[in-house]
Amino acid sequence: MQRATQVPVVNSVSFGYDDLDEWKAVALGRSQGHIYGRNTNPTVAVFEEKLRILEGAEAATSFSTGMAAISDTLFTLLEPGQRVVSVNDTYGGTNRLFSEFLPRVGVKVTLCQTADQEAIESAIDEGLRVLYLESPTNPTCKVLDLERLSSRARARGAIVVVDNTFATPINQHPLELGAHLVIHSATKYLGGHADALGGVVAGDSGLIESIFRRREITGATLHPDAAYLLLRGMKTLSLRVERQNSNALTIARHLSQHRAVEHVFYPGLESHPNHDVAKRQMPGGFGGVLSFQLRGDFEVVKDFLPRLRYAHRAANLGAVETVVAPPATGSHVELTASERAALGIPETLVRYSCGIEDVNDLIADLDSALEASRIP
Ligand SMILES: *Cc1c(COP(=O)(O)O)cnc(C)c1O
Repeated sequence: MQRATQVPVVNSVSFGYDDLDEWKAVALGRSQGHIYGRNTNPTVAVFEEKLRILEGAEAATSFSTGMAAISDTLFTLLEPGQRVVSVNDTYGGTNRLFSEFLPRVGVKVTLCQTADQEAIESAIDEGLRVLYLESPTNPTCKVLDLERLSSRARARGAIVVVDNTFATPINQHPLELGAHLVIHSATKYLGGHADALGGVVAGDSGLIESIFRRREITGATLHPDAAYLLLRGMKTLSLRVERQNSNALTIARHLSQHRAVEHVFYPGLESHPNHDVAKRQMPGGFGGVLSFQLRGDFEVVKDFLPRLRYAHRAANLGAVETVVAPPATGSHVELTASERAALGIPETLVRYSCGIEDVNDLIADLDSALEASRIP
């Protein structure tokens, strides 16, 4: 438009046609164009195309948030009486779909222990319509063997969906590992600046078409202003993620030597139970999120977190600034302490989403906060 070198933000609810034959052809999808902003928009279409290429997908469609992408996808694929198999450690909102909203319409939900590969395989063998996976998981960075589980589910005729938010398309390509659909909360790494919400699903064009048909009616449409911010963020996706991968690995190694730290959870550590799987399926790097368990009790976490000078204490992740949160107030706030314990989430766990700061500054910040909080 006017030879702009940048993607224009088209803030228009509707698109006008003087020629009724042309209007009809566009409305019926026989020629290219836009009619109404809930359905499609030129700025939003560029965002979808960029993500489609990044994930190597046939097609992509976008949403106002990551949760809208996840819920419209699951409600499109699943009918009453059908079964979805997933794991306990999915994102908190996704877990609520599984525990509350899908069962309410008669969808059968089987959630397995995330670390128990055999349990997931036998749940798949019992028959399913959808296998829904996330790797690495939140907040304890467990890793699922996506290739192995996808092929098992495909052999049963199931549709495999993977939430790739934590890994990003820089580090992991679920479609190459056998998934039919890959989902992102674009709010996190794709945007990368914690200033826009968005979601996207990419993969098999027939499935994307039916998910889009639902979304254009249920209406969780991505706003063109948000699409613009996400597009601007994606220009630096690979630079940011490379730095975040290396910051996370350096910090994980440093903290695992620290006497105030009981345990570090990060797939890039050789001590991680699925390090070999992670190495194979995450060729780009192990991601920017790690978590660590402090010695002591929750009082220690309350004392330690405010001492960090570089990190925002907040619920998001994947931003250029470092963000920290304990699951007790962040990702798993809805659960009781004993429910968190049952999921293997210690009360003194801290989720640390690395920003792009100088890693020496982040390490000095962590060290001085650990020192000052005099952990037993
Ligand atoms: C944040 C997040 C979501 C939900 O995304 P929203 O954009 O907040 O709706 C889904 N999955 C994962 C892994 C997330 O981190």
